[in-house]
Amino acid sequence: MTQSRPLWIRDPIAILADDAARGVVIQDGRISETVPAGAEPATPDCAIFDAGRHVVLPGLINTHHHFYQTLTRATPAALDRELFPWLTALYPIWGRLTPDLLDSAATVALAELLLSGCTTTTDHHYVFPAGLEEAIDIEIEAAERLGMRMVVTRGSMNRSQRDGGLPPDGVVQDEDTILSDSVRLIDRYHDPEPHAMVQVALAPCSPFSVSTSLMKSTAELADMRGVRLHTHLAETQDEARYCQEVYGCTPLDYLEECGWLHERTWLAHGIHFDKNDISRLAAARTAVTHCPCSNQILASGTCPVHDMEQAGMIVGLGVDGSASNNASNLMQEVRAAFLLQRGRYGVTQITPRDSLRWATAGSAACLGRPELGVIAPGAAADLALYTLDELRFAGAIDGLAALVLAGAHRADRVMIAGRWAVEDGAIPGLDLPALIVRQNAAAAVLNRV
Ligand SMILES: [Zn+2]
Repeated sequence: MTQSRPLWIRDPIAILADDAARGVVIQDGRISETVPAGAEPATPDCAIFDAGRHVVLPGLINTHHHFYQTLTRATPAALDRELFPWLTALYPIWGRLTPDLLDSAATVALAELLLSGCTTTTDHHYVFPAGLEEAIDIEIEAAERLGMRMVVTRGSMNRSQRDGGLPPDGVVQDEDTILSDSVRLIDRYHDPEPHAMVQVALAPCSPFSVSTSLMKSTAELADMRGVRLHTHLAETQDEARYCQEVYGCTPLDYLEECGWLHERTWLAHGIHFDKNDISRLAAARTAVTHCPCSNQILASGTCPVHDMEQAGMIVGLGVDGSASNNASNLMQEVRAAFLLQRGRYGVTQITPRDSLRWATAGSAACLGRPELGVIAPGAAADLALYTLDELRFAGAIDGLAALVLAGAHRADRVMIAGRWAVEDGAIPGLDLPALIVRQNAAAAVLNRV
């Protein structure tokens, strides 16, 4: 989106940027200028947005999610279970997904993310029952309606129970179907340019639901087309045992054997990596998405984020699916990551700004998008603005720290590519009460309650 007249976002309470105390100037969907303390914009004839009530962040970036799972929040069959039994309880329910149900679920997830201050999101859709072949197309349409930047990851599963995998036969596809649809989606939607609104990555689901052949052929296709790779890895001890029994190696050895250990891969979770694994991942420039809420709810363990960053690894943040996390609020995830990691590593090692960095520049690096997740000249005009007007912030001094420490959860304004996607805490053009009614009905159908 272009902006006919430059816009000066003026005099915020605080801003996560260097030398930008008086704000930023937005032009043609990009940040054209940062304005230091005591200065005026060099750009003439700016319109002005008075940010005197706002703390300004780069738009948050979500690097792991499963939108469809907003239809299975707090599902009784899956409550209080660890990953493998949780999945086996949910697969049959997810197998009943339809295009209309997915459209509702994706719209809910996107709206929830957007209202929390998220401007770019990925989604990892890997459940393809008959009739849902165009799941990824549905997600892209939903993101375009809300004006969000999206990196869809074409998920896949082809190792079902009859082949020794975890999912039932009805939710998987064969390798040829998966690869040809991956090519179709890249051809149709992937924009390789900086500032792209839609990109495509390829994402076989996990070692226990995908064949080695599909892992390898997907890596070859991604290499040929220059797209990124994403999968779940090292999430649970059950997965590590599965890899040892079926492949005779660790999850990371398996990843390397499949041709995935390189800089175009980012992994969800990365909990059960040891020191040696972390060194190998750092050397390969393979990134990890930390998903603290999901990991705690499923009791999967804690990602060693500080050790990873000390070793030079890239770490981003993700909400993960709403059947495990239950929420899709990325700002709440920032607080959860801060609390979990500070509890593990201590007050001198983990700060509120570290957690904000994971959700912005860290997540951008997971996606290979240096123009996102930062407030600087030339970067995308993707911003999240929070007020400190709520009771929970009353008396706060350091505005940036307060967002994390006092628990910001809803942005007042969100800008994506220079256009306001959230105004006064609402998404223009979206009937939120009607969406909630639709989603509750959809969930009732899917869960057969
Ligand atoms: Zn996941």
